[in-house]
Amino acid sequence: MKLIILGAPGSGKGSQAPHLNREYGLVHLATGDILRKNIKEETPLGLEAKEFIDNGKLVPDEIVIKLVEQRISEKECEKGVFFDGFPRTLSQAEQLDKIVKIDKVIYLEVDFSILLKRITGRRSCVCGRTEHIKRLKDNKCECGKTYYQRDDDTEEMVKPRLETFLSQTAPLIDYYKKQGKLITINGDGEVGDIFEVIKEVLN
Ligand code: ATP
Ligand code: MG
Repeated sequence: MKLIILGAPGSGKGSQAPHLNREYGLVHLATGDILRKNIKEETPLGLEAKEFIDNGKLVPDEIVIKLVEQRISEKECEKGVFFDGFPRTLSQAEQLDKIVKIDKVIYLEVDFSILLKRITGRRSCVCGRTEHIKRLKDNKCECGKTYYQRDDDTEEMVKPRLETFLSQTAPLIDYYKKQGKLITINGDGEVGDIFEVIKEVLN
């Protein structure tokens, strides 16, 4: 199965990763996570991407498409993947259509007012987990590492990121609707409850 989870920043795409992996064996392919890893390791690609990310802009299509092509060709991905944060532009979607057959696209719909609260209160771990500050007792993730706040998870960065979503990524909703692949789900709720809905629509 090849699945895309589409949604604005903070809509809960990555939070579905452990569930989708456990239930369907899907590998989590998140371009944002791959880019942040490159930035942390100060690779040439990471240094190039950082400037865009720090300004709430998208990293150029050629860069992310190359990353996706690399990852998808790995043996592990044969079991199935779900794309998180990719595609994000029409051009990325068109290129993806040339390399894999997407089965379904789940769009997690959430009000921007909710997204603002979620993103500014979000803490992330290098292992991929995230948690909202209201649920954190200390800053320790269950993997043992320490939660941190992403540089782009600040109030001033939310606006440009949501604007980028509206102008560049939202057109994909129509793109996949026309392909008959789009399933819209209300993303305002508990992660586990939303996964139950996802299971229903996938079965
Ligand atoms: P979320 O808050 O749900 O994690 P997000 O969109 O804010 O979603 P990421 O998906 O982690 O966060 O992406 C972080 C940044 O990395 C984006 O703002 C963008 O600059 C860059 N990026 C990630 N994926 C892509 C992509 N497919 N195309 C272009 N830029 C990307
Ligand atoms: Mg994410």
